[in-house]
Amino acid sequence: MIPYSTQDIADADVKAVERAVRHPYLTQGPAIERFEKQLAEAAGTKYAVAVSSGTAALHAAYAATGIGKGDEVIVPAMTFAATANAVLYLGAVPVFADVDPATGLIDVADAERKITKKTKLLVSVDYSGRPAPYRALRALAKKYKLAYVSDGAHSLGATYYGQPVGGQADMTTFSFHPVKSIATGEGGAIATNDRALYEFLLMFRTHGITKDPKKLTRDEGPWYQEMHALGFNYRMTDIQAALGESQMKRLSAFIKKRRALAARYPKLLAKIPGIVLPPPERTNETSAWHLYPIQVDPKKRRAIFEAFRAAGIGVQVHYLPVYRHPYYESIGYKKGLCLNAESFYAREISIPIYPRLSKRDQDAVAHTLKNIFTDHA
Ligand SMILES: *Cc1c(COP(=O)(O)O)cnc(C)c1O
Repeated sequence: MIPYSTQDIADADVKAVERAVRHPYLTQGPAIERFEKQLAEAAGTKYAVAVSSGTAALHAAYAATGIGKGDEVIVPAMTFAATANAVLYLGAVPVFADVDPATGLIDVADAERKITKKTKLLVSVDYSGRPAPYRALRALAKKYKLAYVSDGAHSLGATYYGQPVGGQADMTTFSFHPVKSIATGEGGAIATNDRALYEFLLMFRTHGITKDPKKLTRDEGPWYQEMHALGFNYRMTDIQAALGESQMKRLSAFIKKRRALAARYPKLLAKIPGIVLPPPERTNETSAWHLYPIQVDPKKRRAIFEAFRAAGIGVQVHYLPVYRHPYYESIGYKKGLCLNAESFYAREISIPIYPRLSKRDQDAVAHTLKNIFTDHA
């Protein structure tokens, strides 16, 4: 079985985990700080805060903007549910923006149409690893005085106008789930250049408790710490951080491999009529190529998908527009809200792309796709 994505674990990763698991600190030890330093460097930001998942990173970042009950948050419809769920965790209201039909990235004009007096936060997603239109989104956030968070779960290692993805929004979140740019099992992080946001995030991930002498309101003794906000236990273990630290040494090699595979697919798939390939990278941008999303005739999508799986190729579909999930329908969201996202979903299949995918296996994917198209023409 060729999966649509999978981690790349080397002997060095295994050794790093072994060292970590024998270290006196299994959590809140030195590996976290080292991993965060690497992350901040890779994201081009002053600070990075490691947390227990990409979802925890979103929750912490949204909480840091101060959003709460009744506030509206613009979120693209074409994303994993967590991007919108974390808005609901805080009692705020996700307002879905439609996407560009070619890239699946947020449509800035539609995002602007959805802004009301209640809007407090703008969120974009680097769908498939491709940077969102950050310049336009930053201008939009500035015009309407909104906080801006980028969900970069797909895009660690991508670049935008010569800068790594990470410093474009007020905060950028990452995920280290095994299918993402690097793997820690479960894990995530928030990158930011803002000192006050950084300090809030550190507190939020550990119950809202601080030990910082400058912040304590009383001095009751050397043991003393105080809770200043309702936080969570969103800490990452040192075992995970050690794996992350070891994986980060190969981040650029991983992305290089993904980009090489992405550059090869158009040549392999050129002669198949009826499939639409993802657009190439734009000038001044590189994608992390988390996904390779192709589009097919929506009437044939299911048969093509099933034929892939039958041939041992683990394709996937990314994503059902978030508001089409029964839970979102149960709280009042209706079909037809974002037509481009619905059409994108109806056509999309993610075909395999990951660092360990060999040329031979990639050839096999292309060959299978050709055969499927001959059968389903
Ligand atoms: C993976 C992912 C998340 C959630 O990350 P976890 O680490 O699985 O919690 C959030 N947003 C997007 C777009 C993702 O792909």
